[in-house]
Amino acid sequence: MKGDPVERERFERIPERIDGLVDLAYNLWWSWHPAARVLFKQVNGCAWKESRHNPVRMLLDVPEGYLWRAARDREYIRRYDIIMERYRDYMGKKSSWFTEEYSACRPVTVAYFSAEYGLHHSLPFYAGGLGFLAGDHLKESSDLGVPLVAVGFMYSSGYLHQHIGPEGLQMDIEEPLDRDAAPITRVLDPSGGQVVLRVPHIDPPIHVALWKVQVGRVLLYLLDTDIEENRPEHRGISHRLYYGGREERLLQEIVLGIGGRKALSYLGIHYAAVHLNEGHPAFALVERVRERVGKGMSYEDALDQVRGTTVFTTHTPVPAGHDIFSTDLIDRYFSEYYRCLGLSREEFLAFGTHPEDPDAGFNMTVCALRLSAHHNAVSRRHGEVTREMWHSLWPRLPVERVPIDAVTNGVHLPTWLNPRMAALFDEYIGAVCPYWPLEHDNPVVWELVDEIPDEELWRLHLWLKTKLFNRVREMKRAKWAEHLDMPENVVAEGVFLDPMVFTIGFARRFSTYKRADLIFTDLERLVRIVNNPWRPVQIVFAGKAHPADRAGQEVLARVYRFARSPEFGGRVAFVEDYGERVAQYLVHGVDLWLNNPLPPMEASGTSGMKAAINGVPNLSILDGWWIEGYNGRNGWAFDREYVGEDRDARDAAAIYDLLEKEVVPLYYARDLRGVPHGWVKTMKEAIKSTAPHFSARRMVKEYVNRYYPKMLACASIPALRI
Ligand SMILES: *Cc1c(COP(=O)(O)O)cnc(C)c1O
Repeated sequence: MKGDPVERERFERIPERIDGLVDLAYNLWWSWHPAARVLFKQVNGCAWKESRHNPVRMLLDVPEGYLWRAARDREYIRRYDIIMERYRDYMGKKSSWFTEEYSACRPVTVAYFSAEYGLHHSLPFYAGGLGFLAGDHLKESSDLGVPLVAVGFMYSSGYLHQHIGPEGLQMDIEEPLDRDAAPITRVLDPSGGQVVLRVPHIDPPIHVALWKVQVGRVLLYLLDTDIEENRPEHRGISHRLYYGGREERLLQEIVLGIGGRKALSYLGIHYAAVHLNEGHPAFALVERVRERVGKGMSYEDALDQVRGTTVFTTHTPVPAGHDIFSTDLIDRYFSEYYRCLGLSREEFLAFGTHPEDPDAGFNMTVCALRLSAHHNAVSRRHGEVTREMWHSLWPRLPVERVPIDAVTNGVHLPTWLNPRMAALFDEYIGAVCPYWPLEHDNPVVWELVDEIPDEELWRLHLWLKTKLFNRVREMKRAKWAEHLDMPENVVAEGVFLDPMVFTIGFARRFSTYKRADLIFTDLERLVRIVNNPWRPVQIVFAGKAHPADRAGQEVLARVYRFARSPEFGGRVAFVEDYGERVAQYLVHGVDLWLNNPLPPMEASGTSGMKAAINGVPNLSILDGWWIEGYNGRNGWAFDREYVGEDRDARDAAAIYDLLEKEVVPLYYARDLRGVPHGWVKTMKEAIKSTAPHFSARRMVKEYVNRYYPKMLACASIPALRI
């Protein structure tokens, strides 16, 4: 970045003494190191807020005087030097968990492919859980020193902000990404222009420009088709996430898989293994086979080698989550490609043919399963469901031997743990285990949470709750001041929330299987629970529905109408524009995290983990991660076994029963100083049981330990490096 004269010029006004801020701004390392964020904030708090916590934007916009003031401030410089040293140490460190564990292995890189990445709200390249999982995977790989390089899309115009209109209708307001003010940089060729590559063997031709994001020590390369070299109809391929008709979708997946593979080989990145996050990038595997065949390897050997060096993570039991393309469409773009592989059309199409439904078309998940030897689901239960779902691909094996195992998801602790909470842990855990952040996947360390006095944990929780409600009010006030809102909507969106009242949080995408409106099944009973004068209850909702998902939007509108209804007196609220930023406030600040999807649709779920590590217990149906996470002391669970017509009514009743009999009474059982010791015990259990097991650290180590040695062994058989 510093070598690039154009870039340097843009930041020329930054005083030399603190010009390391530019390097820091372009590495998302700042996003999970609170002390680094403070460094930007201290230059000028308003500019930091105005930039929406995007340091690149802030450095470009902040009046120069503030930069000079910081550069001359002794205290600022002292902190600056400390942080910069920590940053350089981190980036330059030679040893890591990975190098220690795998010192015998020759250096090897894994290429990670994903259609979305949730890293920070200044890079809105995500839709939901799949993206955050990928983002957390990169951050943790950086922390552990796992040699990983990632590929994705630079979605330039697609981020949709949610505004709720009259009657609860969701309006999607598009915000184009300002490429020059985002923490991304152009990848340049030797002549100083941006690298533009042609996606090989695809006709008509498509070109991609390359961008780069630094995620600590991990590089993420982004593909951008909105460039002059492309035909007008191809420029929009990278505009939006999961958008458009089948053909646009196919083009996206061609660009991601084949274009992504091309980008890595252009950059000279030698990697021995591939990790696919969901089926969207599966063409990368086809392309790996093609390249080997092109260099003279036999088709069978090429297939064996690619399969042996690929791990494929599947994420969804929902049928619509698996892309299927008609053979007509595949023919349109791949007719030249078949020949390069030395395959007939039929042989190629067979990669994506589902044995149970051979005429359905080309199934990307089937293709990924066929072209990888290592496959995993994202929780144990999801493993069972997935093995059943794909049993027909291994018809001779009994279902329990279908080779799809499970690596349960986890969340990146430094990203999702509130900094104040981390400071409290530091005080009590750190007093005994000073290096606890380095071994936070060790359950023994977390036993020390019991050392934290109940009052202190409780006081901090109330502070975070107040912070959430202040934030909600401030967002609404700003809209109101811009005359953007009707009075009823202001009420519906949480201005009456009271920090003294027990508060349930429900925030996730509004897909119908998540049943966001389940709790409204018996209205009378819910009204009684919410308006109980001695033990009142609040519920805060947030979440977006996909623009094409009518049913999801209707559920949202229904929830919104309840929030507007005077029956609930402002105690049911809907917070607009759920994204990384709103999620951070919610998972730190509510009292209880509610989850009631229709089993077995929740592959894992991760928002409940984010809440639990911050001392927010879950009340959830036994599905996804909660089957593994629930231990009887760290929250509440209800059954998943029941199937029948009145399923919704039974599940809703189970929630009401738990709330009335156990949860709410426990919350309001206080000592004379107002501390609910029983509740705090549950909070501590939630932290102790969730933080080590459901951390991205445990997850990434599991991926490495389980698959890498096998993939390495396989990569070294035929001596061919591509
Ligand atoms: C964590 C997260 C998700 C995924 O949550 P689930 O519990 O898996 O539904 C979605 N969106 C945002 C903004 C998140 O932070």
